[in-house]
Amino acid sequence: ERKAAIDAAKGPGATSDGHRVPLLANVGGPADVPAAVEAGAEGVGLFRTEFLFLDDSRRAPSEDKQVAAYRTVLEAFPEGRVVVRVLDAGADKPLEFLTPGDEPNPALGVRGLRSLLDHPEVLQGQLRALATAAEGLPVSLEVMAPMVADRADAKAFADACREAGLQAKFGAMVEIPSAALRARSVLQEVEFLSLGTNDLAQYTFAADRQVGAVSRLQDPWQPALLDLVSAAAEAARAEGKSCGVCGEAAADPLLACVLTGLGVTSLSMGASAIPFVRAELAKYTLAQCERAAAAARTADGGPEARTAAQAVLSGE
Ligand code: PEP
Ligand code: MG
Repeated sequence: ERKAAIDAAKGPGATSDGHRVPLLANVGGPADVPAAVEAGAEGVGLFRTEFLFLDDSRRAPSEDKQVAAYRTVLEAFPEGRVVVRVLDAGADKPLEFLTPGDEPNPALGVRGLRSLLDHPEVLQGQLRALATAAEGLPVSLEVMAPMVADRADAKAFADACREAGLQAKFGAMVEIPSAALRARSVLQEVEFLSLGTNDLAQYTFAADRQVGAVSRLQDPWQPALLDLVSAAAEAARAEGKSCGVCGEAAADPLLACVLTGLGVTSLSMGASAIPFVRAELAKYTLAQCERAAAAARTADGGPEARTAAQAVLSGE
């Protein structure tokens, strides 16, 4: 009986009326896999591959080293999804061989996909390593690019994946407001979207995520951010494609319910948050989540949005 309770507590993510919202883990490499499995993650929603690259800032790790790391993560979720993000260097994660050293505003400079398009050999090496790592495994491999601004970026990434012969779904992270506002256009080139709410908040509010003095504007409950989430989720629904969230927002159990109500199709977070999000989501119907999301969007600020959503969900 106790075992059944534990298994149920690790079951798939869903609302109380059975609307499925897969709960996935954010990982930085093989070391994070045991905690993700233990928490009952249904897969990986964000594999931050840059950690592999941080050991040596002067060159990319060998393809063999990359294959080994990718394979360990892919093998851990034989039946599940694993969403691998290609290298996101620059800004707060500079790499000598990729990041220009003389940028006045690194967060607005050559980072993420922009670095990789300037260094196609690094992107091709990574995509080839992923293809090799996934060989013979039943896992559903998805690969996404960070910092996609528009359709041209999405196309450049999808072309690179095809050139590498990768058998995977290709996706775009939505971390720049332009990509959320024009999500339907981005979706002409890729099969899924994943909202990176940390950067999306940074760029929406012109508030550096590393500067504590502007943290009020980094609040993922901010209704302007919820509007952009809604725009992206709506576009994905119209195109029959998926739109997950892999930023910190997904780790807040109440906000996870609101994101579900906005139409987000999966939630990815640090493993330790998964049990809390699973338990909260299971308390409410999809219709309640939708009402909470609508209430949050009528608020004027982050704290007010949270209070409004809480009031709906607690039946006040
Ligand atoms: C994000 O920006 O929300 C995200 C998930 O990516 P990272 O935190 O690694 O920039
Ligand atoms: Mg980001």
